[in-house]
Amino acid sequence: MTTENSTVKVGDLEFPPRKVWMKTYGCQMNYHDTERILSHLSGMNFTATSEKAEADLVIFNTCAVRDLANQKFYSHLGETKKLKESKEIDPETGFKKNVIVAAGGCIAQTEGKELVAKYKQLDFAFGTDVVDNIGEMVYRAYSGEKKFAVTSWDRSENYSIETKITQGTPTAFVNIIKGCDKFCSYCIVPFTRGREKSRRLDEVVKDVSRLVEHSGIQEVMLLGQNVNSYGKDNEESLGQLIMELEKIPGLVRLRYTTSHPYDVTDDLVAAHAHSKKLANHLHLPVQSGSNTVLQRMLREYTVEHYLTLLQKMRTANPEIIISSDIIAGFPNETEEEHQATLKLLDDAQFDFIYSYAFSPRKGTKAAKMNDAINDEIRGRRLREIQAKQLKIQENIRQGMIGKTFRVLVEEKGLNKGVAKWTGRTSCYRLVHFEPETPENDYQWHWVDVEITSATALSTQGKILRDLGKKIQ
Ligand code: SF4
Repeated sequence: MTTENSTVKVGDLEFPPRKVWMKTYGCQMNYHDTERILSHLSGMNFTATSEKAEADLVIFNTCAVRDLANQKFYSHLGETKKLKESKEIDPETGFKKNVIVAAGGCIAQTEGKELVAKYKQLDFAFGTDVVDNIGEMVYRAYSGEKKFAVTSWDRSENYSIETKITQGTPTAFVNIIKGCDKFCSYCIVPFTRGREKSRRLDEVVKDVSRLVEHSGIQEVMLLGQNVNSYGKDNEESLGQLIMELEKIPGLVRLRYTTSHPYDVTDDLVAAHAHSKKLANHLHLPVQSGSNTVLQRMLREYTVEHYLTLLQKMRTANPEIIISSDIIAGFPNETEEEHQATLKLLDDAQFDFIYSYAFSPRKGTKAAKMNDAINDEIRGRRLREIQAKQLKIQENIRQGMIGKTFRVLVEEKGLNKGVAKWTGRTSCYRLVHFEPETPENDYQWHWVDVEITSATALSTQGKILRDLGKKIQ
């Protein structure tokens, strides 16, 4: 690759400066993949833009898990038709605009060929396991190749990558395991992300050390579809990895997501007890409070086992807060099964939940179940779950008042018409606070905030100390 007069030569092609617009749907794994894609494309002279109208390359990173994300993608893809027809000369480069449109992610993994055949404006589609080959695909598109789909799986035994970051923030997503072997009956992920494969522990430790030392990263989110299954294939574990990462000087906070209750091991519980850097937060999806529904979901644990895990975690770290996911109205859920979920909310005392009405994903076992309940029942049950949870979390959050929390500040915004800064505590709660003077810039500062008021959804505080951008 050579650079001359701001044009980059890749193989036989000249790449002038171009703009890429990316839209990411769904989970943090997709956001992580987007960062990798943008990082690869920067080597081909692409810079990211937030203005779709000025983009030369449009990439959708799709999600097959949530219905809403699914619908949004198709609507956004429809809008690219007009953009594609644009034949203006770019005033900056003098090159004629030739907009390339691509789709990656989970929908593209399972339906890539169909998408490319059906949508005239789509130039190529690519699956979840070929994200690191984006350069090759963009090269093919700019060589004039049209209408192709790359959805192959990486067949190598090892999973080895280097984390790419483009954001310039002190936080990074670090993928440590890909795929999922669980096959929950409602979930499409094992079909879109393949089988579990973990990175080696020493590779992750080196990767995070590099990010801390050379890129100023202080907070790391370890990612995986089933993150606490990490290392099984190499006789390593997430608990071990956390205790090794703990030793990296300059790393302040560690998080991980998303976990499966079946894979919460004793050494992971011990890591929550002993690690000083592991956040006071665990997101542990339960999905239902009924054992019979959990069986139909193929979740491999019981409500009693789940509650025992929460007890163990809270004993290991009394400061920990727990959040969860709940699906309302799984096929054939009875009123009694729904009531069991409402009871679980009381027993578990979650700090917050993500709750959804069940919607079938094509190709899953749950989508083939004969279902006796309808959307009206689902909607009513979802509202009952959410209303109950809001009361519980309002009560829990009242207990924050008067306490001081260390917050990593993310952004400034308007809160009920007042300029406030917003950041997250170790326990992942959002905290809003007013600056000491209007000029103060706290972005990506660590601050200590005393909580002055809290509702179910919002926590307000008063800044006590500004510790600056770097702490140990
Ligand atoms: S463990 Fe999570 S990602 Fe894996 S199949 Fe179940 S819900 Fe899907």
